[in-house]
Amino acid sequence: MNVRTNLKRAVRTHLRISLFLLMTASVILPAYRSGNPVRPNVILIVVDTLRADHMSTYGYFRQTTPRIDALSRESIVFKNAVAQAPWTTPSIASLFTSQDPAALGFEGEDPVELDDSFVTLAEVFRDNGYKTQAVVSHDFIGTKLKFNKGFDSFDQSNAKGYGHISSPAVTKAALSFVEQHARDRFFLFLHYFDPHFDYVLHPEFDYDPDYRGSIRSGEFKDSLLAKAATMTEKDRNHLKALYDSEISFTDEYIGRFLDELKRLGLYDSSLIVLTADHGEEFSERGDHWIGHTKKLYQDLIHVPLIIKLPDGAARRTVEDDVGLIDVMPTIVGHLALETPRSYRCEGRSLDLNGNAPPEPRPIFSETRRLAKLQSVVWKGWKLIYDLRRGSQELYDLNDDPEETRNLAAANPRERDELRAFLWSWRAEIARLRAGIKVEPKRPIFNDVEHARLRSLGYIK
Ligand SMILES: [Zn+2]
Repeated sequence: MNVRTNLKRAVRTHLRISLFLLMTASVILPAYRSGNPVRPNVILIVVDTLRADHMSTYGYFRQTTPRIDALSRESIVFKNAVAQAPWTTPSIASLFTSQDPAALGFEGEDPVELDDSFVTLAEVFRDNGYKTQAVVSHDFIGTKLKFNKGFDSFDQSNAKGYGHISSPAVTKAALSFVEQHARDRFFLFLHYFDPHFDYVLHPEFDYDPDYRGSIRSGEFKDSLLAKAATMTEKDRNHLKALYDSEISFTDEYIGRFLDELKRLGLYDSSLIVLTADHGEEFSERGDHWIGHTKKLYQDLIHVPLIIKLPDGAARRTVEDDVGLIDVMPTIVGHLALETPRSYRCEGRSLDLNGNAPPEPRPIFSETRRLAKLQSVVWKGWKLIYDLRRGSQELYDLNDDPEETRNLAAANPRERDELRAFLWSWRAEIARLRAGIKVEPKRPIFNDVEHARLRSLGYIK
């Protein structure tokens, strides 16, 4: 299939989706006809910095996520989900609004406020009679950046910086909410943060007990980066073992939350979505970099996406490429939620009933933090374009999932096809920006918030 045909198909798909979204605003699907049957409670869990390939759910060699594995056995597991950005604020902004980060005004190094003109998922739930609650553990998705838009109550008390272990308190706050609102219809957003650096050993999940090197549990990022150039393979593996320990610790607390939901009789009837905002890298590229934000390899943008429907009978895996940008229209479409006039999604509404596979569509990601990169995934191929250098990398994700062989020179047909997608996507965003007039606003953090963000390495 040539570029023109693909572009035409993508445009056709886009029009079809836009038409579908227009229809959902006025035509209520039979499954959730205004309250009969009653729409379910919805719980959206985001684990910060959780690489899909470090979860046993996604085939990792360690049993890091037994609790999420159990959830996934009753869920739709999207094998190839991609975040739209490799750092917290733009990625979750995209999840909350179904907009590309660039369309939301993320055009520089700094986080920007969510612009009032974008409808959030929480707003849609609130307008449909849901009680809306968030429990978050990072200022970068907090009230200063207006991520509370649409939430009746927004608990940010666990945003305490890198040294704080937050999973127990997030679970406690979540349980306190569901116990109080067991008879209400609610949308609950939970944001777990512990896999984010620093990487702390939880003794009950010690995956490298015999290690005797210089890497310590809880070591801050600056210290790790200073050591990165001289790290041995054993050191890097130990770092990953500490990261895995944080994943398992978080998994256990998510499991405890789900256990309590079952005890309260709320688990079966709830629609539960579990995902992550981005992944993490451990010097895989030989450039002695540890963390996230400045690359778009799969380590950074391949995230879990697991959706349990209320009856739990929909266990299935989906191989198609999807993005976090698809989550909001998928939930809105599946529950036939009524939406305001200004509701406009850039993602697709995926069919959760399994009647139709999603129409293939290129999935885009971007970062402008410590780099200027854009990427597109399309039918097993991936192009990463460096806006500063004008250079490009092409990978065959089926043959080379670790992205070690750049095929940009060897496969010009695929390279040019994917680059044409990127070009048309950029033009589309420019058109959207011209229509909406987003004025990116940088938040002003107080001294305490500033110190916390500096401790996380987010600001200088
Ligand atoms: Zn994050």
